[in-house]
Amino acid sequence: MNAIILLRRDAREFDCVVSIYTRFSGKQQVLARGTKKMVSKQSTQLEPLTFVDIEIMPGKEIDHVIGVQLHNFFPSIHLSIEKRVVAIYALALVEKLTKIGESDERLFHLIFSWLHALEISDYSASIFLDWFIFHFSFLLGFAPVLDNCALCNTEIVDCIFWSPEHGGIICKPCHAKILASSSMSCSFVDIGFIRQFLHTKISEIAFVLMTKQQEYKVQSLLFAFLQHHTEMKLLDWRKLANFS
Ligand SMILES: [Zn+2]
Repeated sequence: MNAIILLRRDAREFDCVVSIYTRFSGKQQVLARGTKKMVSKQSTQLEPLTFVDIEIMPGKEIDHVIGVQLHNFFPSIHLSIEKRVVAIYALALVEKLTKIGESDERLFHLIFSWLHALEISDYSASIFLDWFIFHFSFLLGFAPVLDNCALCNTEIVDCIFWSPEHGGIICKPCHAKILASSSMSCSFVDIGFIRQFLHTKISEIAFVLMTKQQEYKVQSLLFAFLQHHTEMKLLDWRKLANFS
């Protein structure tokens, strides 16, 4: 079956547990025997950031890898520190926020098409990551309200606040009423960028033109939103932007 290698960790003396994302069975964890021996052909094929055809045999506690054939190891991503860092981050995020066996073919296509676009692009790798996280969050069901106030549904005409707790943007009067300590101020420009990310295909990402400050602000809004709704401690990807 087709799979993207998300992450692998050592298990026992020579073995590894590999997290994969498959087209029809979602995330799976499988045991690969002997991958730490120098002679293992499987070792490089089961590195994160590879697209493989993998054969699995049911095991008592965990399924075993019995065959693997490499389809694509995304050489350009591996050769670029910037691309590699964002790709590893994105795959680790998928590993962290998905459950074993929960299948979503749209997510498989999202990861695969995103890696393919990153492989052939020279555009800012960090904006690629922002785009991926927005679209991944939506597939997980974490979609912020972006049009009207998330609380009173009125059109917002002046000041906007971003409230992860209340599901998106809120108006000034609602913000004053609830005294939302976790809300952040934001602008129409910030929300415009979020809409642009959501309506832009990955192949058209170069049309999203933003300064580093604007990108940092949009990342801050999304990070707060995702952290609140996943209830997980996430590695702050704004720190990854320092390399570029
Ligand atoms: Zn309101």
